[in-house]
Amino acid sequence: MAELTLVEEMYKRLEETIRAGNPGADLTRVRAAFELAEKAHAGHKRRDGTPYVTHVIAAAEITAEIGLDEVSIVSALLHDCIEDTGITYEDIKKQFGQTVADIVEGVTKLTRVQYTSKEDEQMENIRKMLMAMAKDIRVILIKIADRLHNMRTMDYQTEEKQRSKSLETMEIYAPIAHRLGMQKIKWELEDLSLLYLDPIGFKEITNILNERMDTLKEFMSSVENRIKARLDDWGINSTIYGRIKHIYSIYRKMYSQKRGLDEIFDLCAFRVIVDNITDCYNVLGHIHDMFKLVPGRFKDYISTPKPNMYQSVHTTVIGNEGIPFEVQIRTWEMHHTAEYGVAAHWKYKSGEQGIRPGDEEKFAWIRRLLENQQDSEAQDFFHDLKIDMFADEVFVFTPKGDVINLPAGATPIDFAYSIHSAIGNTMVGAKVNGRLVPFDHVLQNGDIVDIITSKSSSGPSRDWLKLAKSGSARTKIKQWFKKERREENIIHGKAMFESEMKRAGLSMSSLNDEELVSIILEKLSVPSLDDMYSAIGYGGMTAVRAVNRIKDEIIKAQRPPAKSVLDKLNEQVERHARIHQKNIKAVHGVLVEGLDNCLIKLSRCCTPVPGDEIVGFITRGHGVSIHRRDCPNYINGINNPEDGGRWVNVSWADNPTDSYTTTVKILAKERSGLVMDLATELNSMNAKVRSLSARDVGGGKSTATVTLEVKNLEDLKVLINRLNSISGVSEVVRAGG
Ligand code: MN
Repeated sequence: MAELTLVEEMYKRLEETIRAGNPGADLTRVRAAFELAEKAHAGHKRRDGTPYVTHVIAAAEITAEIGLDEVSIVSALLHDCIEDTGITYEDIKKQFGQTVADIVEGVTKLTRVQYTSKEDEQMENIRKMLMAMAKDIRVILIKIADRLHNMRTMDYQTEEKQRSKSLETMEIYAPIAHRLGMQKIKWELEDLSLLYLDPIGFKEITNILNERMDTLKEFMSSVENRIKARLDDWGINSTIYGRIKHIYSIYRKMYSQKRGLDEIFDLCAFRVIVDNITDCYNVLGHIHDMFKLVPGRFKDYISTPKPNMYQSVHTTVIGNEGIPFEVQIRTWEMHHTAEYGVAAHWKYKSGEQGIRPGDEEKFAWIRRLLENQQDSEAQDFFHDLKIDMFADEVFVFTPKGDVINLPAGATPIDFAYSIHSAIGNTMVGAKVNGRLVPFDHVLQNGDIVDIITSKSSSGPSRDWLKLAKSGSARTKIKQWFKKERREENIIHGKAMFESEMKRAGLSMSSLNDEELVSIILEKLSVPSLDDMYSAIGYGGMTAVRAVNRIKDEIIKAQRPPAKSVLDKLNEQVERHARIHQKNIKAVHGVLVEGLDNCLIKLSRCCTPVPGDEIVGFITRGHGVSIHRRDCPNYINGINNPEDGGRWVNVSWADNPTDSYTTTVKILAKERSGLVMDLATELNSMNAKVRSLSARDVGGGKSTATVTLEVKNLEDLKVLINRLNSISGVSEVVRAGG
């Protein structure tokens, strides 16, 4: 019976706490949640012998104290139901609605996350993961309340559990409370953890503080009185109180500064709470006037709030006693925020005043947490308060329990490369939570990811570049291609480059101009064209970027010469004739009068070969195009007044070594086997045929077009004769002739 009384008593106190903050509160659901929890946990006892339900009432009481809403209090009462009793998500949803059910389930999920102490970076990831997992911020706040009560009642646990829970609290929950701006709870969590993590150190500090308590109290009240008197004189309405700093902050200072407690003087801190911001700065002036300022300790968090919205002005001064102390100056609103953080904002808002105009900015950070901003009725404030601080990140586990932080949308590929390039490069499969998944599977918070590797893996695929979400994974994949696949990269990259050049309206033949190529290579800082192709092939450089960067150079090099340029050409012709005649270098076996090393293209209309009479045409942007003198384009073009001046004399070099592509057309009687005979004949001559096509043209006739490579006109003539001798062939002519 005594137990029942305790439970009843605690519940009554919970109702009182809620009523204190919210006199008209309807407690029907709170009572229903209490009754359900009591029934569900019936028979469960805590280690200290009290009924288990006392824990959830206490956790609910903490959520009420920090001012959370009815949904939070109901959820806190039910927070251990799914984990520890037969009650299901559906049961809760039926009785209390989806929001409460989701929150309880969220708390359950957090409870199930296992962690062991890790290095700092790991701890930060776990903290972020927990916050990301708790989609509704109330989940985290209830979890913190739950942990706070467990820490307060840790005495009855085994020593091992005390240590592990304390470590977890110190490393995970205190920093989260800090991040949410809940300073008071953070301090309590830290002190309770320290009590179990270093009982001797804890005792040492508390003992000395107790010994000095009288002196400290005397000192504090004298400072308080002096400040109060001064501010009263100046008509500043203020509340002042001194406090001894929390034990863990003294402890940390002792250890980080390797000093004994005797050497730590600033054990006290004072708060001056005033009505408005102007007074904050007025108070600051008075404090600096009354005491000696310790340089470098002044911090203005009013003009620049901390990320968790903490606002105050801090300064450290030295009193007559030679003891330094810190003074924090803030308004009541700032004070509330400092004590309860995110919860204070809710409480403030649910009060009679509601949000005032001008408060908008102050609540910006909370708004950032809000996914859905439309529904902003006071009571529903937390409804849509989601933690999306880490919305662009996802946190997953290795099989060993390390947390890996990846960008949202990450796939097993990102995971594998974040472990090690070698893992990524030999990955052949992936398991998430024990199940095989495809490579494009999107990882979720809390997933356990296991990568399957094989030594016989042929390496990453280019598709992975599209599936990887993180830049570092893509970089590593590219590096692999760079190293392992040069030949392939060159072919691949050249194709991409060519199509990009085409798209930009540039001709690949520009790259026959050695001078231009050397400019291009320098511009792109690559040693050779192959290196450029290779870089494009493995993704180190995009084709678009490469082409964009060299576009201007190519266009400049190809810009059609103006009249005056033509004049210059003529001058060059003469100069070359006089001085450099012997040194003119042939390109494609063609010498252009007066032009060294210019860009040369053998025209496709008449496909000249050495031995043909030829002439050059200075094109607009594509160098000199070489035509046969019997080419209709030349014959017609020479008389065109606009272009007439562009024709230049060219000649074949003495020893053209290239082979030349040319096209011939064959007219024959239509018969079966004609193409076969043509091919056989060409083959017997070792002709290098590029293409061969034939079609019927009606009237029992066929035409065939053969494009092939020859050394010179003599070669070509022999070939034409041989083709002429094939049965049924009536005519063989050169294209464009
Ligand atoms: Mn609990």
